[in-house]
Amino acid sequence: KQPVAIIGAGIAGIATAVRLAVAGHAVTVFEAGPSFGGKMHQFSLPGGYRFDAGPSLFTLPQLVDDLFRLAQRNPADYFRYERLDPITHYFFADGTRLTAWAEEGKFAAEIEAKLGVPAAAVHKFLARSARAYEGTAGTFLQKSLHKASTYFSRETLRALAALPALGLLGTMHQRHTSAFSDPRLVQLFDRYATYNGSDPYQAPATLSLIPHLEHGIGAFYPEGGIYSIAASLVRLAEEFGVKFRYNEPVQEILTAGKLVTGLRTALDVYDFGLVVSNMDVVPTYRQLLPTQPAPERTLAQPRSSSALIFYWGIAREFPELDLHNIFFSADYRREFEAIFQEKTVADDVTVYVNITSKKTPADAPPGHENWFVMVNVPHDQGQDWDALTRHTRAIVLRKLSQALGQEIEPLIRAERVWTPPGIAADTSSFGGALYGSSSNNALAAFLRHPNFSGALQGLYFCGGSVHPGGGIPLCLLSARIVADLIDN
Ligand code: FAD
Repeated sequence: KQPVAIIGAGIAGIATAVRLAVAGHAVTVFEAGPSFGGKMHQFSLPGGYRFDAGPSLFTLPQLVDDLFRLAQRNPADYFRYERLDPITHYFFADGTRLTAWAEEGKFAAEIEAKLGVPAAAVHKFLARSARAYEGTAGTFLQKSLHKASTYFSRETLRALAALPALGLLGTMHQRHTSAFSDPRLVQLFDRYATYNGSDPYQAPATLSLIPHLEHGIGAFYPEGGIYSIAASLVRLAEEFGVKFRYNEPVQEILTAGKLVTGLRTALDVYDFGLVVSNMDVVPTYRQLLPTQPAPERTLAQPRSSSALIFYWGIAREFPELDLHNIFFSADYRREFEAIFQEKTVADDVTVYVNITSKKTPADAPPGHENWFVMVNVPHDQGQDWDALTRHTRAIVLRKLSQALGQEIEPLIRAERVWTPPGIAADTSSFGGALYGSSSNNALAAFLRHPNFSGALQGLYFCGGSVHPGGGIPLCLLSARIVADLIDN
């Protein structure tokens, strides 16, 4: 089998390395940064607070288990996780608090008790969400959509034909307003558009399958935090001989005619007939293939949202909070208009607080908590991020202090901020977008960059900026598609 070079040790690059190494390829991963993980890295702040920098919600853990099974290993020897119950604590702007229990009956009963929406309506909606997932995931997520054999397969045509019957025409928000009359429940389900950085008022109703991932299949927490997903897979990859070359950014993909021939890094030149880029697809073309024609229409697709994250060491424990907590804004439509039309941050925002010390007490000193406080914001287009960070920080502090009945700022013992330009600089994500291109258009799935190059033989793409999209599960699926394309 031919040796393979992978550019980037993000979760998709690591998973691709595992798959190809297990299949018998000699794999070398070139990583620009000092360690692995990309957006899924970890860090500590003075005072003993550990943080997962990026992803915090983990669904479809079997996609990680699959990699250990593929390697004939017992997943539990490397990586353990628990199913969350409850999943999320919601705080609405009108003061209503709601707990999203994992068990559907309990969740529906909570919604009936707190919001007055009949439990039957919740069951009906979640059943449709499950059918939408089962009817479309096989086609849109698990294969290379861009090969003619998938495009015109009977399964694809069947999936497309089923959309009207599943109530999946129109936007996500329309889907949710037709299912529920209570605006708070509409807001709760609209929020799932943010799971791939999209706008519920534009994103297609097909994304209403996302709640099924959490409520049907489950939300999970890996022992030791999200970073342990990357760490356990790197351990597996190294057992199969994968070489990780850190602090070695790739500067150019070398070609001869229509063939890929190797890489030039900051340190050396290497021969490779197979190269997989886990770097965002836009800088892959602009920086590593400057003389090749780029697929301009694909690269011009609107980006997903980004995030402003405040990492705070907090000198108190809040028993009313759990691992995942959402504090909703009063006007969700305004929030998304600000992000996607005005490229700014609204005056009221939805705040997500993730506290891993609730599950891993060692992540904060006794009596303290590690707060990952995130607000959805536009990707970087040259905004004044110092001003937007000050603006957002003030709103967040006011909102959390009010909802929790406790001034938060005096409790902050350590702080770091990650902005869209920071995310772009640290991971090469174009504009610091969290999930590559957005899914605000019904055709977005077809317009995302494929997992292979149509112009250069031997060049492949994995990760959140290409098919099937961003987020941990889809990145893992991109790795599976790339490995299949290379070996079949
Ligand atoms: P990335 O993580 O983007 O890594 C790419 C790697 O390539 C980096 O290590 C970079 O240094 C390296 N690289 C780039 N250029 C070069 C070069 N020229 N040479 C060598 N190396 C290079 N997903 C979820 O599923 N759940 C969540 O809750 C969630 N929340 C998120 C919150 C935040 C704040 C962020 C930032 C992301 C979140 N995501 C979430 C999205 C998820 O983190 C990403 O989709 C996923 O981690 C992206 O992985 P990737 O493999 O595409 O690569």
